[in-house]
Amino acid sequence: MTPAEQIARWVAGEPRCPNDRGECCPDFSCCRPSLLWPEAARRAFAAAAQPEREHMLLGSLAALDEAAAPGADVRVIGQAAPAPCSSCGAMKELRPYGKRGASICLQCMKADPASEARAARALRGKR
Ligand SMILES: [Zn+2]
Ligand SMILES: [Zn+2]
Repeated sequence: MTPAEQIARWVAGEPRCPNDRGECCPDFSCCRPSLLWPEAARRAFAAAAQPEREHMLLGSLAALDEAAAPGADVRVIGQAAPAPCSSCGAMKELRPYGKRGASICLQCMKADPASEARAARALRGKR
């Protein structure tokens, strides 16, 4: 199953994994059905270019993190190299959801309601 075939099946409501690259569906609904995005969100993701897709995936990763059982070892392999977080200073993979687009780590994003709201807006396809 190629990534494109996986996305097409997922949009059609049949999340399956892994694809040829060993990946889960964008919302991880293949492994956790309760995380399945609404159809409109799946269609928006399928139609989005890569930068938009990455923004949408961030919200999905936060949801997966919350859905994980306590103590579960959830690891996410990202494409960005770790850099010092502009908020806590930890070497982490950063996303531009801090104040005025500052790059912050996922932990700082989740700890700050305003940053989380920015990420949530990006997940819904708004800037
Ligand atoms: Zn999966
Ligand atoms: Zn941080």
